[in-house]
Amino acid sequence: MMRGVPILMYHAFGRPEERPSRFVLPARRFGMQMLVLRLLGFRVISLAEHIESLDLGSAARRTVVLTIDDGYLDNFELAYPILRRHGFRATIFLTSAKVGTVNDWDHGGELSGRPLLDWPLVQAMAKAGIDFGAHTRTHPTLSGLDDATLRAEIAGSRADLERELERPVELFSYPYGRVDERTVAAARDAGFRAAVMARLVDGSEEDRYRISRIEIGGDESLLRFIAAVAGWARNRP
Ligand SMILES: [Zn+2]
Repeated sequence: MMRGVPILMYHAFGRPEERPSRFVLPARRFGMQMLVLRLLGFRVISLAEHIESLDLGSAARRTVVLTIDDGYLDNFELAYPILRRHGFRATIFLTSAKVGTVNDWDHGGELSGRPLLDWPLVQAMAKAGIDFGAHTRTHPTLSGLDDATLRAEIAGSRADLERELERPVELFSYPYGRVDERTVAAARDAGFRAAVMARLVDGSEEDRYRISRIEIGGDESLLRFIAAVAGWARNRP
């Protein structure tokens, strides 16, 4: 039985002329989703606050967490104004060595070549209440790496973010959402307080390094969004 607070996972946001796809959610649709959360009386808290309440054993009702992977420039241009309008918190997971460049890891995929946030924008958003977590340095498939490279990717991304943000970085997101024992151990050893995956796993609320998320596809209907969030919330004890 799953329990806890729904943690939503987003990637990129699209302008009106861009076709919706799995990883590109039209900004207008994101705006509708946030409006719906507000109208349904959901409280949007940060992932850090959520981890805090898990540690205290005080899971809040009707609460949602927003997370965004990869750190695309559109997060600032399109999603951030919407988040600000509602006063909603969100955590953006950055691929630290790629900040200020483009996605060069999604070979031939729909996100290939997409511009990423640069450090000045990241710093400005951080000052305005957006949280940032680490998502490795170069977005590799972690399970294929030797120990030293694995450590450099995970601990290195934390060091990069802490240097640029001048504050502790405690949250990690596994690229491609994939985890195994070694990657979980590496995330823990790097000093992260919690790490999120891309899918739902039973019992994951017991493990701070295997936290489940709900992927919100860019081509999903508003009705499916409501069903996913409300359905998850209804199953809470
Ligand atoms: Zn990613």
